[in-house]
Amino acid sequence: MGYVARCPSCGREYDDPLRFRCDCGSPLDIPVQPGEFRREGVVDTPSMWRYVNFFPYVEKRNIVSLGEGWTPLLRFESNAYVKMDFLNPTGSFKDRGASTIISAIRDRVTGFISEDSSGNAGASTAAYAARAGIKARIYVPANISGHKIDQIMAYGAELVRVEGSREEVSKEAMRPEQGKVYVGHAWHPVFRDGMRTLAYEIVEQLGWNPPDRIYVPVSSGTGLLGILEGLKHLGEPFPEVVACQTEVVSPLYHRFRGEPYAPPERLETIADALIVTKPPLLDIMVEKLREMRGSVEIVGEGEIADAFHELAGRGIFVEPTSAVSLACYRKQVEMGEVDRGDRAVLLLTGSGLKTKPSIIKRLLAGRN
Ligand SMILES: [Zn+2]
Repeated sequence: MGYVARCPSCGREYDDPLRFRCDCGSPLDIPVQPGEFRREGVVDTPSMWRYVNFFPYVEKRNIVSLGEGWTPLLRFESNAYVKMDFLNPTGSFKDRGASTIISAIRDRVTGFISEDSSGNAGASTAAYAARAGIKARIYVPANISGHKIDQIMAYGAELVRVEGSREEVSKEAMRPEQGKVYVGHAWHPVFRDGMRTLAYEIVEQLGWNPPDRIYVPVSSGTGLLGILEGLKHLGEPFPEVVACQTEVVSPLYHRFRGEPYAPPERLETIADALIVTKPPLLDIMVEKLREMRGSVEIVGEGEIADAFHELAGRGIFVEPTSAVSLACYRKQVEMGEVDRGDRAVLLLTGSGLKTKPSIIKRLLAGRN
């Protein structure tokens, strides 16, 4: 079925799409051939499955779709565009990954799928499982609440609350059990692979003329790595991908610059979808960003709030997490790091409607 996942650490290869981790413990990677993307291979369908021919391990008859992808690329100002990926079926860009993995493995699931996420990935996985008629079990931290949890339950997924750290939640979700298939976005190479479609869409929507810069909010690294792989597959010239994080949660920013990083005791940030302090894909992110000549940026809470209000004030209501891409762009323009004439694309990942009401209230109260 044309599937090969490779371990970036020891080189071992696997042809089983149910594998999410190497025997050596490293996450796996699905390599693409640089520059091998062919425009002739694009199918005329208004969803991300217009690129189905670049996913040889997905059989067309197995595609589980809710109409994900092919989201608008909107001109925001003369040289900046926003990729409206929060307009996906569940309100987040993670639908690309969920649609891909469930399409790839649906034939193999006899029991249920599992995912560890209290956020967008959990909601996406629950939605696509429902669409495929597969049972989903979503593992979340014990005391979590909010719209995303309600959304996960509305899709009919079983919610399992786990006491302890975020790592404990992951461990429970991955723990082998009869009939369980782990599809978690933070580990699974197929989930991440679906994110390649973002790169194809951005470049196609600009008339196959790649932008100079792409700003991507980064937490577990799913979107960032998918976009980098897609760009590599499209071939040179590569846009500069800017990995955007917050001052509160910035493990990639620090590792990339060779600086130590210690997360604060309490993760207080309005960008509440960017809270992964120890992403399993951290080493792979650093390596791929270097290989593709990408860079890193961070912004503070005030800058994120300003960007959120700027977007909403122009009719675009996103999660504050999504506004981190605009905030990083604004910061770099101000510092003179973006050349005049550079064309930039800012990825908007999640809908404002999914934000915790307490955070929206705080943002509205603080507006001047
Ligand atoms: Zn290995």
